[in-house]
Amino acid sequence: MSNQFKIAIHGGAGTILRSEMTAKQENEYRSALKEALHKGYLVLKNGGSALDAVEAAVLCMENCVLFNAGKGAVFNNDQQHELDAAIMDGKDLEAGAVACLKHIKNPIALAKMVLLHSPHVLMIGKGAEQFAKTQGIKMVKNNYFSTDFRLQQLEQIRHTNNTQLDHATNQSTKMSTVGAVALDAFGNLAAATSTGGLTNKRFGRVGDTPIIGAGTYANNATCAISATGTGEYFMRAMVAYDISALMQYTQMTLKQAANEVIHKKIAMIGGDGGIVGIDAKGNIAMPFNTEGMYRAYKTSNDEEHIAIYKT
Ligand code: ASP
Repeated sequence: MSNQFKIAIHGGAGTILRSEMTAKQENEYRSALKEALHKGYLVLKNGGSALDAVEAAVLCMENCVLFNAGKGAVFNNDQQHELDAAIMDGKDLEAGAVACLKHIKNPIALAKMVLLHSPHVLMIGKGAEQFAKTQGIKMVKNNYFSTDFRLQQLEQIRHTNNTQLDHATNQSTKMSTVGAVALDAFGNLAAATSTGGLTNKRFGRVGDTPIIGAGTYANNATCAISATGTGEYFMRAMVAYDISALMQYTQMTLKQAANEVIHKKIAMIGGDGGIVGIDAKGNIAMPFNTEGMYRAYKTSNDEEHIAIYKT
């Protein structure tokens, strides 16, 4: 058992400007991030696995109405919620992912069941929900996820062909995708990500979050990554795996590889967003190319950091 353990989380990236945020809103986000961080950290502190820690942190944010995952998720063009999530274990490269879920209270819990109890990696829609029933996963009505605030967001762009990433310009009060990465005391890495996707997306649209290698990836040999941003771009750039591959094949550090992908590769094709990442030595990186990203980390040396804005 190595001595150190660490967890890092995000609650989405975008145009999050200090000037557009009230002190009350800022406090709400900070305490929501802190709660999720501590949930995950406690698992690690009690000798639990990185896999269980990232699930605990993400599940906490799914249950928080502030974030675009689980309760509080955005609406698609059909005024429904379709949720995506993924989880990956860096120890053995096992992964579980789910997409287009309408009735699963905690998509991340189902993603973990896919990892643990199915021969598959990615399950979607009705088939995934059928599988959920066999795993004792909590089901809810689709309107469980709804909030007035999300409905207003949809109404603003519903009659256009546009989709809306949370935290886009002048949307600073809006919230986004959630994710976590962790290194446990046994030296294992894991990553988890969960989202409602983009406001006004077409039904059936799937983003980067549940695509292993795009929005979520973990490998003990390199790093664990959870991404947030414009999913179509993150899929085309295979963001999470690319960071891992740069580390593996070019000897870049996590920080160098993450900066390369977020500030050069993704930015060059027009993608907005960021990642949280951790490597096998416990280095943490949280680059983003937007105005802000809800982010936090906590280490076994009792170092705790919670941040929102770029500077
Ligand atoms: N990446 C997510 C998606 O495209 C959205 C987000 O990060 O907010 O579904």
